[in-house]
Amino acid sequence: MSDQLRRIPSVDRLLGTPALRERAAFYGRRLVVAAVRETLARVREEARAGAEVPPQEALIARIVADLEHRLAPLLRPVINATGVIIHTNLGRAPLSAAARAAVAAAAQGYSNLEYDLPEGRRGHRIDHVERLLCELTGAESGLVVNNNAGAVLLALAGLAQGRGVLISRGQLVEIGGGFRIPDVMARSGARLIEVGTTNRTHRADYERALQQEPDVALILRAHHSNFRIVGFTTEVGIGELVELGARYGVPVMDDLGSGALLDTSAFGLAHEPMVQESVEAGAAVVCFSGDKLLGGPQAGIIVGRAEFVDPLKRHPLARALRVDKLCLAALQATLLHYLRGEATRDVPVWRMIGASVAEIDRRARRWRRRLRRVGIEAVLVDGRSTVGGGSLPGETLPTRLVALPVADPDGVAAALRAADPPVVARIEDDRLLLDPRTVLPEEEEPLLRAVQQAVV
Ligand SMILES: *Cc1c(COP(=O)(O)O)cnc(C)c1O
Repeated sequence: MSDQLRRIPSVDRLLGTPALRERAAFYGRRLVVAAVRETLARVREEARAGAEVPPQEALIARIVADLEHRLAPLLRPVINATGVIIHTNLGRAPLSAAARAAVAAAAQGYSNLEYDLPEGRRGHRIDHVERLLCELTGAESGLVVNNNAGAVLLALAGLAQGRGVLISRGQLVEIGGGFRIPDVMARSGARLIEVGTTNRTHRADYERALQQEPDVALILRAHHSNFRIVGFTTEVGIGELVELGARYGVPVMDDLGSGALLDTSAFGLAHEPMVQESVEAGAAVVCFSGDKLLGGPQAGIIVGRAEFVDPLKRHPLARALRVDKLCLAALQATLLHYLRGEATRDVPVWRMIGASVAEIDRRARRWRRRLRRVGIEAVLVDGRSTVGGGSLPGETLPTRLVALPVADPDGVAAALRAADPPVVARIEDDRLLLDPRTVLPEEEEPLLRAVQQAVV
């Protein structure tokens, strides 16, 4: 037995191996030492109980597995081959090159985040993007917070705390990730007043509530997000709601969710409500996400009439939900793409939406050629990509998919997820599919390498 124990290598010897030196450089020495000690203690116990001491290679593998188990999962880049453009689980919108550069520049040193350079005194962090937001949307005033859930909470708390808010029963939705309109309403301190029915809400339903309910602060319109009511349905449009509200002195709040600044119907999709349209229609406040169809960083944006938006800037929740300089840098760079009219070229989400089937087909053919050279016979099939992110529910874009010739799609999909960087593919009808639409050009090489390793 003592013979066995003598075969256990020392902590220092293990720490000197290339594998563990590499791990120590990444995770720090302290954690690696702890993992080595723990594994060796277990091995010693096993040896006393009569087990063989594993060879050094196996010991190192155990230590590495232990380390990775303790610290996993770290946040890391992933290749999205699912064809879902705004994939919430995979981090929603990839940033443009200019937005990434702006983040790096803002991160590197100091900035005029809250400093008025001409005057040499304190400024406001929102000023930088507010002008851009107003220019792009036609709004009088704008505000940015951490995400759209926060924007909706802030707007309701600031404009309707302790008072009534009208909303159609068809819009009492759960968006996902625990965001339910009725719950957010309750948290904000506003009183929910449901009007109409699940599938049909008429102007007269709102009007009756406006006449009967005491103290109505707002009419709220909420985008259905990721579901669609089909068939026998009626909803009152934003213009009509604003007109009706005005007659009773009640402002309208529009939670658009995805916040399109470009017209999706120009890309063969249904028309997604645009921010400019709601502002133009006279909504008092319009809320939308920064990382859905806007294609920027995670943020919640509120634009609208100064009389309603300005007080929100001074609300205590605005301070609690404020955005950091990295977000503002990325958002500013993203908004500038729209202002310069280059969003469809430079904002990745829009480049993906705008990619033609012919263009995707060319990429798919190239992948197939490359895979054939390493003995993998992929097949190209027609398919659909989706926009995702709660926008355009049920709407899809035609695409060309690369189907991998595998008997065990689940097993190969798992191997792709274990690659470095991980690749997330799609399984449909027992077929393992890759959609080039959501794969960035610079990700093609690592993707094809991962496929080669996972399939062979
Ligand atoms: C996505 C969405 C939200 C939440 O936005 P986040 O930026 O994810 O916080 C709120 N309302 C609607 C209608 C949405 O689609």
